[in-house]
Amino acid sequence: MIKHHPTFELLKAFVAGDLPASLSAGVAIHADMCDVCQQQIAQLTEQVAEEHFKVEENLLNRFNVDEQQSLEQLPVNNFENMIADITASNNIRVIPAQKEKTISFKGNNYLLPRALHNMTLGKTAHIGKLSRLRMQLNENEIHTSLLHIEPGGGVPEHTHKGFELTLLLEGSFADEKGAYVKGDFIMLDASRKHHPISNQGCLCYTVANDALHFTQGINKLLNPISTFIY
Ligand SMILES: [Zn+2]
Repeated sequence: MIKHHPTFELLKAFVAGDLPASLSAGVAIHADMCDVCQQQIAQLTEQVAEEHFKVEENLLNRFNVDEQQSLEQLPVNNFENMIADITASNNIRVIPAQKEKTISFKGNNYLLPRALHNMTLGKTAHIGKLSRLRMQLNENEIHTSLLHIEPGGGVPEHTHKGFELTLLLEGSFADEKGAYVKGDFIMLDASRKHHPISNQGCLCYTVANDALHFTQGINKLLNPISTFIY
């Protein structure tokens, strides 16, 4: 069962459209796998729509617009005409159902989450039992990847100056805090060191930002994995 969910603040920011594409996709992928968060998002979306409606109402009142009068001025037939135009038109594009997309790491095929279908995928790099496929999102210091760990592989103990999101898409892994299952949304801040190990192998969606720009060059020489996983 999924134990790790996005915070309420993150869900609110998601609904308001305030998240960078990388995190927004993370929340969307999690919600596709988590009924609890899906419901909360639906509720928040309703609230936001209501608030938006209230703001518009207030604006109308502030400018002393007589709503009834402005409604009466609308041509009654407009809507019916519009529908008639649409149904008479031959120029209707039928949107095909979304096809499934798969992605392959070391001979294993995985279903690509819907939220990632339209993202540009970069090249895959490998170090030992780790494979990393970069998402080309151009979000400056925020780096987004698919990280594949073969059975028995892991990521050496590390921390980030900023945040690190790990969303488990397939398989399982464990760290000092316990074991994680498919759908777990694990958001770590700079205070947490961790050392994930995957006995059965796994595929994760990862988002990290790191302010360590100055030492990155040195880190690269000393420890290629630190830039590999960021
Ligand atoms: Zn959830």
